[in-house]
Amino acid sequence: MNFPEKVYINEVVLRDGLQLEKKLVNVEEKELLFKRLTRAGVQSFEFGSFVHPVRVPQMANSGELYSKIQQAAGTANLIALVPNLKGAERATHLGVSNINYVFSVSETHNLQNVQKTTLESLEELQEINNFCIENKISLDVSLATSFGCPFEGEMPTDHVLSIVQQVTELIINTLTLADTTGMANPKGVFQLVSLVRSEFPKQKLRLHFHNTRGMGLSNILAGMNAGVIHFDTALGGLGGCPFAPGATGNVCTEDVVHMLHSMNIQTNIDLEELLKASLLLEEIVGHQTPSYVFKAGPYDKKYPVPISS
Ligand code: ZN
Repeated sequence: MNFPEKVYINEVVLRDGLQLEKKLVNVEEKELLFKRLTRAGVQSFEFGSFVHPVRVPQMANSGELYSKIQQAAGTANLIALVPNLKGAERATHLGVSNINYVFSVSETHNLQNVQKTTLESLEELQEINNFCIENKISLDVSLATSFGCPFEGEMPTDHVLSIVQQVTELIINTLTLADTTGMANPKGVFQLVSLVRSEFPKQKLRLHFHNTRGMGLSNILAGMNAGVIHFDTALGGLGGCPFAPGATGNVCTEDVVHMLHSMNIQTNIDLEELLKASLLLEEIVGHQTPSYVFKAGPYDKKYPVPISS
């Protein structure tokens, strides 16, 4: 297999991770979590989303959070998810300079998620792109359900590639292929990502997996093997789309970092500090997270030999 020397993690716990939590995490708790994660060395965050607060109340304080963390962020990249031009305008009005516009390659999921057809979302992307060029905003695009849709099933490769082509014709920074409900498998990831990379070699690519069916880490391996070095992960493995049945958590940051470090792949993230952030996360959300490494500790942790009586 083909592995990189270094992988770049984009931490999405503050957005994807917390948006499915019953408890509305307040801005002070989010700020504390952010600070712990920066202390661990995390350099890129999707910190919130500018969606309608009635639809996703967990994200209603994203603007307030941005004003609190932008100073402490230093060189860290702060990305806001936006579902439409209005969200982009709201975010950038507050000074956000990196936005991530998300829509689904699946028509049915897009209608559920943002009440638009995929074509309508592509048209809105043109407007957002113009807005970003005029205002010198960095634009990312995430394509939800790239590896399958809970309503429509598998996505035809030609359909995904056609949307990727239309997106990459615009001036966008990072394109993320997202497996919104954990339907991807390693072989399919390798095939689709290899195709996208060979047809659009200049496009910076990121992958976003959910561990809904336990294939998250395997899919990351498959993505690396296809040449990708940028991944979205969420602390504690929290997360999920509120508008997709059966949605569960993202692939877990500490499990990914632990796997990469054990393979001598660098992340610039301190696992020990990350596990402290994971402990704080459990205290904040008030329940255990699906993280494996948080429960078991790192693979090189040594236990005292039990003394037999
Ligand atoms: Zn997600």
